[in-house]
Amino acid sequence: MLTAAQKRTETRAANKAAQARMEAARAEVRRAVATGRCPTCGRELRRNTSMAGWYQCSQYGAVGFRADASQPSCDWQGFTE
Ligand SMILES: [Zn+2]
Repeated sequence: MLTAAQKRTETRAANKAAQARMEAARAEVRRAVATGRCPTCGRELRRNTSMAGWYQCSQYGAVGFRADASQPSCDWQGFTE
């Protein structure tokens, strides 16, 4: 049985690890944004302005939303912040 203090310590460690994972994911998206190219398919990235720091592959989404409807869609997206 953990004491309250031990539980707090575990919770803090878990939160810190989660923060680190999220920051690593954001850093990876920032690297992709710096290249301007989708890391999955190599097409251009575009910003989705409905949320801060949201970037998507220009081929993201259904026909009518993606850049080139004649090409397959790509589901890459991520956040820089
Ligand atoms: Zn893509």
